[in-house]
Amino acid sequence: MEERGLRKVYEGKAKILYDYNGSGDKLIAYFKDDATAFNGQKKGTIINKGEYNNAISVSLFKLLKNNGIESHFIEKLSDREMLVHNLKMFPVEFVVRNYTAGSLAKRMRVEEGVKLLSPVVELYFKNDELGDPMINETYVEAFDLGKIEDVLEAKDTAIKINEILKNFFDKNGLLLVDYKLEFGVLNGKTMLADEITPDTMRLWDKVTLEKVDKDRFRRDLDGVEDAYKRIYNITSKI
Ligand code: ADP
Ligand code: UDP
Repeated sequence: MEERGLRKVYEGKAKILYDYNGSGDKLIAYFKDDATAFNGQKKGTIINKGEYNNAISVSLFKLLKNNGIESHFIEKLSDREMLVHNLKMFPVEFVVRNYTAGSLAKRMRVEEGVKLLSPVVELYFKNDELGDPMINETYVEAFDLGKIEDVLEAKDTAIKINEILKNFFDKNGLLLVDYKLEFGVLNGKTMLADEITPDTMRLWDKVTLEKVDKDRFRRDLDGVEDAYKRIYNITSKI
């Protein structure tokens, strides 16, 4: 990419961001095959993950747009690259949950797979060194993590997104257990950003309850690539 004269702006665990045209207002997000878990303690590669995750995100951003939810997505550039608006990101992860799993099951000491009576939305401070601690809205103002009204708007949007994604996956034989979203601001407008992929969602087969997401990698289960491919196949019909 640097050979194409593109300036690397940031390299994270799953993606690399490049400045698109020197103006800094658009970025190319390049999706890698690298996979990490447990705050970077487990590292590995999932073959073709980058291509699947780019395509899955593109399709889901399109589905959301068709349902009135704006995102940073502009266009798909190649198998592993999408063009996006460069947003001022909130250093916050918005986790939405429909069933108990992962850290929620631990925190509330309930088994995994219990249907929640209503969706749970959690905020985490995005900071690898601290292990992404859980926060709430009052931290946003107190620690200047963004404008409180923008963060509350993002939280509302996360709930709207939940209805759209939950129904879509339900129609395709999957339970949307939980997922993580990120938001940022462009010209004063709060917008969905980052990715929506099996790296950031938990999806279970409705019949067998088999995991069809990154938990297969986290837990050393077989069929990791096949899980990503299944979500790719479902979302490619959007
Ligand atoms: P991480 O930073 O957690 O290792 P990634 O490897 O996915 O994760 O890196 C992508 C980074 O790009 C994330 O930190 C995310 O907050 C940021 N990002 C996503 N979308 C945008 C955007 N539209 N504008 C600016 N930054 C973005
Ligand atoms: N998640 C994520 N990035 C994170 C933390 C969580 O994408 O840094 C996603 C994760 O894939 C799951 C949901 O958010 O779909 C809830 O994760 P949880 O808090 O249970 O964390 P875990 O126990 O999996 O680390």
